[in-house]
Amino acid sequence: MATIPDLPQLPVVPRVIVQKYGGSSVADVAKIQLVAKRIAETHRSGSQVVAVVSAMGKTTDQLLQLAHEVTDEPDRRELDMLLSAGERISMALVAMAVRGHGLKATSLTGSQCGILTTDNAGNARIVEVRPFRVQDALDQGEVVIVAGFQGTSWRREITTLGRGGSDTTAVALAAALGADCEIYSDIDGIYSADPRQVPNATRLDSVTHDETLAMARAGAKVLAADAVALARMHGIALYARKTGQGSGETVVRLDTPRDRPWIVGVASRPHAVALQYTAQAALDQQLGSLWTAANLTEVASMQAQTRLVVLARDVADAVDPAFDRAIAQAVQLLGHAELTVLRGTLVSIVGPAVGREPGLLGQFVALVSEATEAAPMAVVAHGLTLSALVAPEHTGRVLAALHRRFVEVTP
Ligand code: ASP
Ligand code: MG
Repeated sequence: MATIPDLPQLPVVPRVIVQKYGGSSVADVAKIQLVAKRIAETHRSGSQVVAVVSAMGKTTDQLLQLAHEVTDEPDRRELDMLLSAGERISMALVAMAVRGHGLKATSLTGSQCGILTTDNAGNARIVEVRPFRVQDALDQGEVVIVAGFQGTSWRREITTLGRGGSDTTAVALAAALGADCEIYSDIDGIYSADPRQVPNATRLDSVTHDETLAMARAGAKVLAADAVALARMHGIALYARKTGQGSGETVVRLDTPRDRPWIVGVASRPHAVALQYTAQAALDQQLGSLWTAANLTEVASMQAQTRLVVLARDVADAVDPAFDRAIAQAVQLLGHAELTVLRGTLVSIVGPAVGREPGLLGQFVALVSEATEAAPMAVVAHGLTLSALVAPEHTGRVLAALHRRFVEVTP
């Protein structure tokens, strides 16, 4: 028998892991210490670690509040300068804490990481990542701590990536470094419903990027939508975990095992508005620009003789002048003649069954009607999502009924 000759020893290329820690995970000194310990453990297990951090606790909200106390309409550029500071505080503190474990740690801003963005302040898109400094630091055996949620535009202005944008920073860096991407928060993954609304909610072992995006659009507080879309584009799996101990996780990936539930979850979006009107093609574009300008999501739009456009705001605040202004302008544009404006909460089921399972629509409408003792104000199907507009006070009961029927009882 031939013997196998000794092979030359190949250099072992260490695995790069990007970990993202949300605001609640770095909310105080004790939590920062916990994060530092986790980072140190990951480094000691032989991986190169890049940790992206959010601003501490509610810092971003507090900074926003401060700005609005100083002036009614803060300048967008100055807002980005202000808000980006929140993440810089966390990155420096976490780096100091990691050094306390005897490791070399360097904190870097988004700009220093080579995160290049468009120049629309407050909601910039990442156009390119040139992570040379990150790579250099990793090659020196250092742990890199990155300020999430920010980059720099081609004009060399500091930009922020929109609320929840640290997730996007993590995914963009993972893509640029060919790394795994772990997202740590105070929840151990993605759930089939908000457990505060539906106590029977369960953690999902795996979901697709598309399902996660649909859940986010339906109102679930999951990962930032931009981050998930970016991860899908690069084929990157996301591991959503809880920061403390805990072993559970949800893996977001391009495909999931076939025995998963047909409807993955239920969710709701408060303060939604449905506009129903006779189609006037010339107005579609004008209305579209209105929604974009007011930062509204067109959740669904049925294009027939009669248009049914359902809109929701990204911020779940009851008072949102931009939203109300946009609706008022739309009402003016459309004339009052054949326009119906409906307001309520949008309740949705999300999953690949939508549009595929015969009879699903009928069951959905019947369940919603039963739980609210009235026909839903509007019903729309959109991709993986089937939604109904209901009076806000029925939200809990409708969600529980939908969850029981479509998630707890797998057909
Ligand atoms: N600190 C920012 C926010 O609160 C970004 C983030 O947390 O991802 O939106
Ligand atoms: Mg946050």
